[in-house]
This record gives sequence, C-alpha cells and structure tokens, in this order.
Amino acid sequence: MKRGGAPTRPHPAALRWRWYERMNDNTLRKSEAEWLAELGPERYRILRQAGTERPFTGSLLDVREDGTYVCGACGNELFTADAKFESHCGWPSFTQPEEQKNVRLLEDRSHGMLRTEVRCARCDSHLGHVFDDGPGPLGTRYCINSLSLNFRPKSP
Ligand SMILES: [Zn+2]
Repeated sequence: MKRGGAPTRPHPAALRWRWYERMNDNTLRKSEAEWLAELGPERYRILRQAGTERPFTGSLLDVREDGTYVCGACGNELFTADAKFESHCGWPSFTQPEEQKNVRLLEDRSHGMLRTEVRCARCDSHLGHVFDDGPGPLGTRYCINSLSLNFRPKSP
C-alpha cells in the first residue's frame, strides 16, 4: 500500500466487535433476584449484602491443601493456597490476592469502623476485609468469608 494513503476502511463486523469490546469492561452483572436464586439465602447475605459469617464457623478455615480459592459467586480466581496463613482471627486469611486486579478495595465505614472492604473485581460480590497487620512482605491480611469462596484443589 502507498505510504500516507487513506487508511483501509475496517469491515463492519470488526467495527461491531470493537464496540462490543469497549462495552465489555470484564465485569459480570446479574440482577439481585438472579443472584439470590443462584447462591441461596446464606451465601447471598454474605456475598451480595456484605454480611459476615460467624467467626470460626467457615468450612474453609482449616483447609491446608494446595489449590486455588475462587469467588463463591462467579468463580474468579482470587487467592492461592500458598498465600493462606493461620491468623487465629476466625476467618480464612491470606497475605495477598493471586492478582491484585482480581479484587477491588473500597472504603467501608459501616458498624462505626473504618475498614477496607474486599470485593471480587469481576462480579462485585463482597469477600471480606483487608487489614494491615499481615505477616508477609506487603503486611496485608485479607480476612475472607468461607462462604464468599470456593476451594479448587490442585489436580494431581
Ligand atoms: Zn466474583
């Protein structure tokens, strides 16, 4: 093609695709009724209404196997087993997310406290809170509800 010539006109389908790409911000949206039907009342209360399970009751608290912890609502990979540590706080605790972009941090002033809420970046479900007293080099402790997670053991 001649240098400086008019740019080739993209195919109309390519234009549609680009429009779709711009609209797709990689998030997952469902109505609250859909979430409730899918998650059931117990998980719905935690994940979609920012509830907290009672300490020391979560099913993932004592899991030690190798694997990945994914979002209980959408399956987004959130934490790896090597980031899990025993914090004695009553909830599964992690030093850091598998990838920072997979979680979203928000200021939470509920219950008369100033805390940092952790949400799934993909479906915006509530996961737990992050505190700055963790043992790792970053000093963070991600304190996450078992009900907000599913554990996928590493396949042998
Ligand atoms: Zn999610």
